[in-house]
Amino acid sequence: MADLSEARVLVAGLGVSGVAAARVLLGLGTTVALTDATERPVVAELTAAGATWLGELSEVPEGTDLVVTSPGWRPDHPLLADAARRGVEVVGEPELAWRLRIAGPDGVPAPWLAVTGTNGKTTTVTMLEAVLLAAGRRAVAAGNVGRPLVEVVTASDPDGTPTFDAIAVELSSFQLHWSSTLAPAAAAVLNVADDHTDWHGSFPAYRDAKARILERAPVAVADAGDPVAAALAAAHPHPVTVTLGEPGPGQLGVRAGALVDRAFAADPAGEVLLEAGLLQVPGPHNTVNALAAAALARAAGVPAEAVGRGLAGFRGGAHRNVRVATVDGVDWVDDSKATNPHAAGASLASYPRVVWIAGGLLKGADVDPLVAAVAPRLAGVVLLGRDRELIAAALARHAPAVPVVAVPSGDDEGMDGTGVTAEATTARVVAAARDLARPGDTVLLAPAAASMDVYRDYAHRGTAFAAAVRALG
Ligand code: ADP
Repeated sequence: MADLSEARVLVAGLGVSGVAAARVLLGLGTTVALTDATERPVVAELTAAGATWLGELSEVPEGTDLVVTSPGWRPDHPLLADAARRGVEVVGEPELAWRLRIAGPDGVPAPWLAVTGTNGKTTTVTMLEAVLLAAGRRAVAAGNVGRPLVEVVTASDPDGTPTFDAIAVELSSFQLHWSSTLAPAAAAVLNVADDHTDWHGSFPAYRDAKARILERAPVAVADAGDPVAAALAAAHPHPVTVTLGEPGPGQLGVRAGALVDRAFAADPAGEVLLEAGLLQVPGPHNTVNALAAAALARAAGVPAEAVGRGLAGFRGGAHRNVRVATVDGVDWVDDSKATNPHAAGASLASYPRVVWIAGGLLKGADVDPLVAAVAPRLAGVVLLGRDRELIAAALARHAPAVPVVAVPSGDDEGMDGTGVTAEATTARVVAAARDLARPGDTVLLAPAAASMDVYRDYAHRGTAFAAAVRALG
């Protein structure tokens, strides 16, 4: 892009997407400056390629045309506040990628099919990728999952044709906050629940960031069962909603045990996409995700048969409702990725009688509504992590008869190598769950909380859980 190759760009924050942005810009001949709180090792590589390292900054250097910010930086970061004051444009890496897309032989860049939501983004985007691949498209899932978008939109084969002809894009609310012109061919807001209000400042600001994904998309997809997402779609000229019930016109839904499209089908009665029983991923929330992925694919012209084939072949992602073992008639399920109450609620609704493993960092979220809603399913609860007492208090209010075991862990016993390890804590959690479970129950790790008080991340938590379960024999 001519203007960007002439531009002076400041890349703020050298995480995965910042580094990718700097590399691609340097490749275009752009004048690139770098800033971050610390000088990471990658700075040497980027300066060798022509970038200038400026160290930590609180003011935008004179002459900067554009700031590309890391999604982790809040708008009130001194540097970004200074950019706003001076009228210097700030974009995220997805917006930069949108401006850098290379065109195919037909002169048109690959369309983006974009997904946001509090929960279900990665599952839906990877389902969509599977469907697009089943349809023979050269598709890839990118953005907040997989490879950075700047890499994907500029990737070309040796003959110069773009490597991808359809991109399933996952966008977080942070990335959307810093996006202004991107126009997906179709976009979905799956759901909007309480999360990340610390970053955005308020729930309306968080919701409005999510809504940006729909602004320039000709088709707006949402879960009809989520009031906030459904309202966003309803305000759009071409809403398509998905429902677990019988679909009306303009909807995708479930009829007589099959996923049916009544939004894009030629037949007004609808077209069957797939028998619901062929979905390999459990729970009503995953059926919603499948319907949303189908809606986006159908908006992009994918035939019903390929949608069905792609969805039937989809095996789900790690630490997302994965059954790790069945021991003595008890199913043990790892949904470590349920890092907020809304996700844990969807997960718990997938199993009739549950020994629930919960706790960690609640990030200020209110667990009362979740605990009240799931109380009838609970056979027992094992709590761990820093905020376990908050969940214990909610259980005492809404499920006083349910047995609860709290396992001391994390900050209070020390995770610094001198205290209890995450693995030892997990073994105690699993042993307590085993004592509470009866044949037919599901022991579900769906913590409703982030993991970093005890574990490195949600993957570490899920892996430790699976190992402890396997050790049960
Ligand atoms: P994200 O990328 O938005 O974090 P994932 O697809 O990784 O979403 O799913 C994270 C967790 O959210 C899952 O493990 C599950 O507990 C829950 N979840 C998935 N899909 C939905 C949905 N449609 N509605 C509510 N919760 C969901």
